[in-house]
Amino acid sequence: MSQEQSAATPEYEVAIIGAGIAGLYLLHRLRGLGCRVLVLEAGTDVGGTWYWNRYPGARFDSESWSYGYSFSPELLDEWQWSEHFAAQPETLRYLQHVARKFDLYRDIRFETRVAAAHYDDARGDWLVRTEDGGAVRAAILVTAIGGLTEPYVPNIPGREDFQGESWHTARWPHRPVDFSDKRVAVIGTGATAVQLITEISKNIGHLTVFQRTANYCKPLRNAPITAAEQADIRARYPEIFALCRQSFGAFIHDFDPRSAFDLDDAERRALYERLWAEPGFGFWLGGFRDLLTDRAANETAAAFVREKIRERVKDPAVAALLTPTDHAFGTKRVPLESGYYEAFNRDNVRLIDLRATPIERITATGLRTTDAEFDFDAIIFATGFDAATGAHRRIDIRGEGGQSLAEKWAAAPRTYLGMQSVGFPNMFIVGGGPQNAASFCNVPRCLEQNVEWVSDAIAYMRERGYRSIAATPEAEEAWVRHVADTVAGTLFPETESWFMGANVPGKVRVFQLYGGGLRLFREKCDEVAANGYSGFVFR
Ligand SMILES: Cc1cc2nc3c(=O)[nH]c(=O)nc-3n(C[C@H](O)[C@H](O)[C@H](O)COP(=O)(O)OP(=O)(O)OC[C@H]3O[C@@H](n4cnc5c(N)ncnc54)[C@H](O)[C@@H]3O)c2cc1C
Repeated sequence: MSQEQSAATPEYEVAIIGAGIAGLYLLHRLRGLGCRVLVLEAGTDVGGTWYWNRYPGARFDSESWSYGYSFSPELLDEWQWSEHFAAQPETLRYLQHVARKFDLYRDIRFETRVAAAHYDDARGDWLVRTEDGGAVRAAILVTAIGGLTEPYVPNIPGREDFQGESWHTARWPHRPVDFSDKRVAVIGTGATAVQLITEISKNIGHLTVFQRTANYCKPLRNAPITAAEQADIRARYPEIFALCRQSFGAFIHDFDPRSAFDLDDAERRALYERLWAEPGFGFWLGGFRDLLTDRAANETAAAFVREKIRERVKDPAVAALLTPTDHAFGTKRVPLESGYYEAFNRDNVRLIDLRATPIERITATGLRTTDAEFDFDAIIFATGFDAATGAHRRIDIRGEGGQSLAEKWAAAPRTYLGMQSVGFPNMFIVGGGPQNAASFCNVPRCLEQNVEWVSDAIAYMRERGYRSIAATPEAEEAWVRHVADTVAGTLFPETESWFMGANVPGKVRVFQLYGGGLRLFREKCDEVAANGYSGFVFR
């Protein structure tokens, strides 16, 4: 860049990438400190996940009223969720409302995808370049780019040949799509696919679902929020957030302190039936303490779910295909459903087992497996995300001495507190990056913790006139070991899941998230702050 260009580059105290839940709240907090902040956002509006994921059936698996921001009593008082598990359009409206209420739009630059962020060793700041050719400088860079942001589409030969319509679920068009007389393929059967398949199967010409792995799905049991319930929720907000603060995953559900074998078969069965009948994740995150550490304990829950699946699917051969047997219950993200299994009882819905007959190629008119040729009008990729690290990898992030973050993390992600990485001073990660509680919880509860911790650290720097904050190698090494300890002895590493990076070919197989839960994560972060940000060096 020439000197003239450099002189023209706008400068900010903080540049935030991403206007999802994390970026919006961080902008609000930093404004409160008096910082000059700019948010760069690839989409045309705020909302992040709830802006991009517009596929039919997209909705919360978190209780709506436990998901919204907790920081503003006024906001809590004026916003009313219509359902216990709100659908995507409502969540998007909520985040637009937040952005208007706190006057956030004026500091967000939309349709601006960040292509590169380079640390300038001489100046001690970040030069951020956007795909449209723009650039800004910022003393501090914050990536609030989400953990489930970068769509993953398998590299199946012939994808460009297909003449029909084709989308990844996270790139759904901003217009209604009518499948009533269409032949549609859905590739994938994870949490998104489960929502999508249930919804589109209600009015479709013909649907073919291509499944690699059967999942343990639990009924969502959604319902509208009545006026009486709304009054009760408003009165109990402090209690609800206190509960989320204490629970492992920041949900209203928390693990049962007993072992599965502290109960006899009948008692255990009665408890499972009760949890199964409840809305939400209680059957998973309110299970026995040894659910995710002891194979035999896990099998008691897994067998229960398998039985429930078989009861609902009419054709025993289809039921067998939909019944997971290759992994422990809860070691993959548990999809919540509202009629998923019944979708396969329809005459116009067919299930194909990709383990038996993999896809060979996509053709002009459909796709070909090792067994048969299929014709489709639309192919939908419900194939998930390059989670935790994908969105960071897509940006050319270079720290001290020009070192690349993508290269540093290729061997395995390394961070301190999941919020900074050594060699990348003045760069914070808030939200779903690797080794951060926010990648594995009722996310906004963890994002609020991240945002508050980072904004407090920035306030600390401003008060003392520091220009730079950098994690030390020793602190990072200790955090990497701690994160590994949080999943040692659990069943997670035994399962091929996106938690382990297993859904993306070539990605390192290591637990990508943080397995210690929000309470422990918060304790660790608070301890660091209380000790004058131990593990960081200020200049
Ligand atoms: C379908 C789906 C359902 C979910 N359901 C739940 C749920 O029920 N409960 C729960 O707790 N969590 C759920 N999640 C997780 C969800 O991602 C989080 O709850 C939360 O929305 C994350 O917010 P965020 O601000 O961290 O990131 P995001 O919402 O992902 O926002 C990140 C933003 O960064 C932008 N961005 C990324 N890269 C760039 C770039 N290079 N340049 C410019 N902008 C960029 C993106 O466009 C995006 O707007 C779900 C996720 C998905 C995909």
